[in-house]
Amino acid sequence: MKISNATAGCCKVDRVVSAVEGLPSLEAVNRDLQQRFTGVHPDRDDGMGVRRIAEYLNKWTLKTLVGSTGGDVHQPDIETLYTDLTTQREPVSPESAGLLNRAGLSAERAREYLVSHTTVHKHLRDHIEVDTRSANRAAPRERTNELKDEMAQKIAYHINGGTDLGPPDEEIEVNVSVSLECPACGTSTNADRVFARGSLCDCEE
Ligand SMILES: [Zn+2]
Ligand SMILES: [Zn+2]
Repeated sequence: MKISNATAGCCKVDRVVSAVEGLPSLEAVNRDLQQRFTGVHPDRDDGMGVRRIAEYLNKWTLKTLVGSTGGDVHQPDIETLYTDLTTQREPVSPESAGLLNRAGLSAERAREYLVSHTTVHKHLRDHIEVDTRSANRAAPRERTNELKDEMAQKIAYHINGGTDLGPPDEEIEVNVSVSLECPACGTSTNADRVFARGSLCDCEE
């Protein structure tokens, strides 16, 4: 079956998911992608953008293709394989060639299973009706604050276990601050301030 030319399904995402034995149902994959996109996935991989979702799905596909033949599949090898395939590296690295061999695929054939971020964007927006303009995402301000607290707690846990200077006499308080940079002028501003005034900076861009 040629993935890129098949006609069944809502789009290439559907066709790939149906063609790869070992991937869950389209419904389950959709739920996973949607949760990752909106930032509510239990892995807490927060609000991945469309490009990262596409990458994630592609690596999942490759891992499943390679893994379906049995044996361990290591994520770093999949990362390398993905890079080799997407940078059109010819010939692929020996490690990647080994993985492809295991899956019984040529590099060219494996590339047919990869979806573009444009496809994923359309799929999220039109086929599973995720609001890709991000209205469904957790409010950025709240989510940023939650993540800051979470990060502070995690750092405090390690710091209070002892530093290079030895264990602290009293619990050390950790504060995390986040700054956002304006892509136009490069000004970096504290996120609290950005959310409070509703703009990144005062430049004209
Ligand atoms: Zn679709
Ligand atoms: Zn600016």
